[in-house]
Amino acid sequence: MKVGFVGLGIMGKPMAHNVLKAGYTVIAYDRNQAPVDELVAAGAVAAASGKEVAEQADVVITMLPNSPHVRSALFDENGIAEGLSEGKAVIDMSSIAPLASREFAEKLAEQGVDFLDAPVSGGEPKAIDGTIAVMVGGEQAVFDKYEALLGAMASTVTLVGGVGAGNITKLANQMIVAVNIAAVSEAYSLAKKAGVSPENVYKAIRSGLAGSVVMDQKSQKIFDGDFTPGFRIDLHIKDLQNALDTSHGVNVSAPFTSLAMEILQSLKVNGHGSDDHSGIAEWYEMVNNFKLQG
Ligand code: NAD
Repeated sequence: MKVGFVGLGIMGKPMAHNVLKAGYTVIAYDRNQAPVDELVAAGAVAAASGKEVAEQADVVITMLPNSPHVRSALFDENGIAEGLSEGKAVIDMSSIAPLASREFAEKLAEQGVDFLDAPVSGGEPKAIDGTIAVMVGGEQAVFDKYEALLGAMASTVTLVGGVGAGNITKLANQMIVAVNIAAVSEAYSLAKKAGVSPENVYKAIRSGLAGSVVMDQKSQKIFDGDFTPGFRIDLHIKDLQNALDTSHGVNVSAPFTSLAMEILQSLKVNGHGSDDHSGIAEWYEMVNNFKLQG
């Protein structure tokens, strides 16, 4: 199976490396040439456009920031759709709006092209290790055909429903992560201002009911004031915007997501949009006029 890969950023580049390592032929394209050159040095084939990728590949994986980027990579001039033909498939692993996934699936179906939305969670370290979690929306038969390919990048690959269900699941994930980081930061702020070391609080409670993967992965960054990304605040704002739009579209009220969104928005306004989302702790420092570190 020849696998096209479009979008070789923080996540896409290591994921494409893992597909290569699993023995697939990889045809790589990104607007930015540096990651393409790196993958070619590891054995991939370079392409000069999405169209060229799709002409050479049996299946094209996209890993791009948001719905407009995926729409443009698929359907603009020299885009992926121009190089696709019947029997090929697109697997979009970006985190985008579920309604956009459905729109893309319908348009590609007119060409006889299959589509899966397959967003991921786990972040850069798990993308490098090949241990991300993939949540897939699409038809069972299409999932069965590409499950092994997705498994080359992941520790779990789960079909959660029809097209769009992968991104609904990812939005649920992003709501929980944002609110969890805010809860952890708020609790550490209480501890610090009340004279108890947040590090000790973490050690004492991490294996109890309040413990979480978020707490384990983000606490040290908060204690060090090290907010290098990781997962950028700008991208989490994008996800929560999609989560709020989708929630309101299906008549669900999401107050905690709205609060987390405003915290992230305030951080962006103050120049922190490129910080890791654990930088939510910085917002607590700003409004409470103190530092969690030291
Ligand atoms: P990124 O910004 O690092 O990478 C995006 C890449 O897409 C860039 O290399 C850019 O040059 C390329 N690109 C943009 N438009 C293009 C186009 N039209 N044609 C070709 N290339 C194009 O982003 P990322 O962190 O790798 O995230 C990608 C997706 O994965 C996002 O939807 C994000 O929400 C999701 N995600 C990220 C993480 C994380 O920790 N970074 C974790 C889980 C999911």
